[in-house]
Order: sequence, then structure tokens, then C-alpha cells
Amino acid sequence: MFINVPKGTQDILPEDITKWYYIEDKIREVLNKYGYREIRTPAFEYTELFVRGIGESTDIVTKEMFTFPDRKGRSLTLRPEGTAPVVRAYLENKMGRTSKVVKLFYIGSMFRCEKPQAGRFRQFNQFGIEVIGTESPVVDVEVIAAALEVYEKLGLKNLKILLNSVGCKKCRVDYVQKLKEFIEDKKIFLCSECINRYKKNPLRVLDCKKDSCQKIIKKAPRITENLCQECRLHFAEVISYLDDLKIKYCIDYRLVRGLDYYTKTAFEIVSGELGAQNAIGGGGRYDDLAEELEGKPTPGVGFAAGIERMIIVMNQQKIEWPKYKEIDVFVTTVSEENKVIAFKLLQKIRNFGLSADMDYSGGSLKSQMRIANKVGARYVIIMGQEEFAKGLVILRNMKTKEQREVQTDNLINELTSCIDSM
Ligand code: AMP
Repeated sequence: MFINVPKGTQDILPEDITKWYYIEDKIREVLNKYGYREIRTPAFEYTELFVRGIGESTDIVTKEMFTFPDRKGRSLTLRPEGTAPVVRAYLENKMGRTSKVVKLFYIGSMFRCEKPQAGRFRQFNQFGIEVIGTESPVVDVEVIAAALEVYEKLGLKNLKILLNSVGCKKCRVDYVQKLKEFIEDKKIFLCSECINRYKKNPLRVLDCKKDSCQKIIKKAPRITENLCQECRLHFAEVISYLDDLKIKYCIDYRLVRGLDYYTKTAFEIVSGELGAQNAIGGGGRYDDLAEELEGKPTPGVGFAAGIERMIIVMNQQKIEWPKYKEIDVFVTTVSEENKVIAFKLLQKIRNFGLSADMDYSGGSLKSQMRIANKVGARYVIIMGQEEFAKGLVILRNMKTKEQREVQTDNLINELTSCIDSM
């Protein structure tokens, strides 16, 4: 039986790879401009990192992790998100020693064993931003602005920022108590998942999408009205800086996010083009995460965006993708004996810095020309028997269809001047 890709994963084929290059280039361009430096962490970590970092009772940790033992029985997990690994790397490599504020970004695959559907995969790619080492609300806004600029540079439109504060260790305890008291006599009307959430993580009841739960939650006490002085001030400053920059947002008191490490600012960027899985990115502050991972208390704020969802939106908005890079030269031969000489010539052209290819399968000249067309060759070199005996090759411009004989010794010069003048 043929073995397909695992459920929830997909191949990115050569015809689509330029979209990925384009997006990744823009991410790097914008984030370097903002002073973020790229970091790459392993695709798997010790499971404990995510259990402690993301939170024991979260959906990710209880249901969605790909966990397996190594040969010595230590539990490993394919990373379901990038923040906990980046904070681990920050602590482990003592990055805070060289500068008080460390600004990082990453691009990489994440793995969650979710039920696949449109825009939801088991292996998906995120780009993320993390600023570690400052409590300043200005940085929360910088992270939002940087994320928006990436989207904007890629041409994404009609995005909405949903904003909330989830408070801190101090004020959240009181709020959760208030919320529990509010839900207590209504819990029989909640969906079965929310009854579970009510017991383990009542805040998550707030972001249930089911109508029955939403009806109840509408009247629930709001977290932004129950913040401590420090969190209230922080939230007010974030709002005021956003207003200063004329960045539009909607306060969404139900936004709590699926990861326990968030404190104070929480936000999500949604797109109208995405249907049920409408979040294109999300983030927030995680001031207690470093401590949770046995590091010294170090505040942080970050954001992560799903690249597959960005591509879906870009396709729906009919954003023009950059053209596939054509190949400069395609070398064809009319006889088998010429193949080795053709290959040498091909290498010479490549060594000169031009992109070049040939057909190794021994097809007719017609079929070689068809391939040259398919790969978008700008020039084709035809090594005919007669011409070759006279030290000549035919150089054909694939756009104008003009062709002429060229001295083999002078071919590189001819090619570079033709290609430079294009
Ligand atoms: P999260 O880490 O859950 O805050 O997710 C951040 C972003 O990653 C989301 O807004 C989505 O764009 C994307 N994302 C999360 N889970 C998936 C998934 N299973 N498949 C595709 N994209 C995802």
C-alpha cells in the first residue's frame, strides 16, 4: 500500500516554495529593521518545558502534544509553540547578561495533534517575535506594530486587532473567583467542555465559541474591570500608545488565549477571510514565564503568526505573488556523445554565476526544448553536430525566438552580456 503524508501535514511543492521565500524574506526584512535577531531552537524539547511553560490544564498540553520517549526513557515533545523554547534558550544561554532587553524572532514548524480542518494542521509554520527583559508597555505596542508591518508589507488587508488584559498573578486570582461564583449556578447550561474548563481553567470558558456558553458569558464580570492598579495602568498605557500610533483595535473582554503563561496584555489578529479558524496571529505578555522555568524573574512579551493562514488569506485577497525565478540558460544536445561535453559546458556556465540546467534523460531535441520552456529558460544553447565540429554552438533567445551561432570559446562573454542587458 502506498504511504501518504501523515494526516494534518502537507508537502510544500517547488511551485509554491517561492511564496514561502517571499514571506520569509519580508518577515526578516521587517523584523531586522525593528532590531530583532533571528533565533533557531530545536524542533523538540523535553516535555516538561511545555507542561510548565504552557500550563498543565491547557488544551495544548492535555490533548495536542506529540510526545515520545527517547531511548533512555526521557519524555520529549515536538514543539507545539515557540515562546517557551525561546525563553528556555534565553535563560540557558544567559542572553540577558549582554543586554538587558533581548529582541528575538523565529520562523519554524510547530506541531499540534489537532483535528485537521481548513487552516488547521498538525504541522504548521509560525513566525514569532519575543522581547525579553522589559515590562514597558511601549514594547507590547512595538510587538503589535512589527507584526502589523509584516502583514502590511505582504499586502494583507482587513485585519482586526482584538485586545484584552488578562491581569497578573495577583488580580487574576480574585477575578477567577468572581467568575466562578458568577458561573456556579449557570454551569448546567454550559457545554460539556466548558464544564471541564470551569473546574480546571475557568478563564477559558470566556472564549468558548458555542452560542449556549456565549449567552451566559455575555453577562459575566469583565476582567478589565477587575484589574489591580499596576495592570490597569499598564493596559491604559498600551491603549494610549496604540492610539498615538493610530493603530485600530477592538477591546475583546472574552479574549484569554489558550496558553497559561499570558499576563497583562493579550491580543489576537483576526482576518475576515478565514472562517472558523480566523486567528492569523496572537500574542501577549508573559511576565512569569522565565520564573516558571526556574529562571530569574524576567518579563517578556511576544507574538506568533501562522504562515499557512497568511498564505490562505493572501490567496483569497488575490495578492500577486512574485514570479518564479526563471533559469538563465538551458543546454540541449542533439547526440548522446555530446552529453559529457554539454555537462562540462553547463558547469562552466554555473561556475560563472548563471543558473543553468540540461536534460539528462536522453530525449529528442524537441522534448529538450519543451523542458527548457517549462523551466522558463531565457536562453537555450543548442549543441548541433555540425556547428560543434566548427567550434560553434547555437544561442537561442527564448523570448524573441531569435537564434545565432556563437563561438564556443566566447559563449560565456556572449551570455553575460545578453543576460546583463535584459
Ligand atoms: P497560538 O500559538 O495558539 O497563539 O497560535 C498563533 C497562531 O498560529 C494562530 O493565530 C494561527 O495563525 C497559527 N496556528 C495555531 N494553531 C494552528 C494550527 N493547528 N494550524 C495552523 N495554524 C495554526
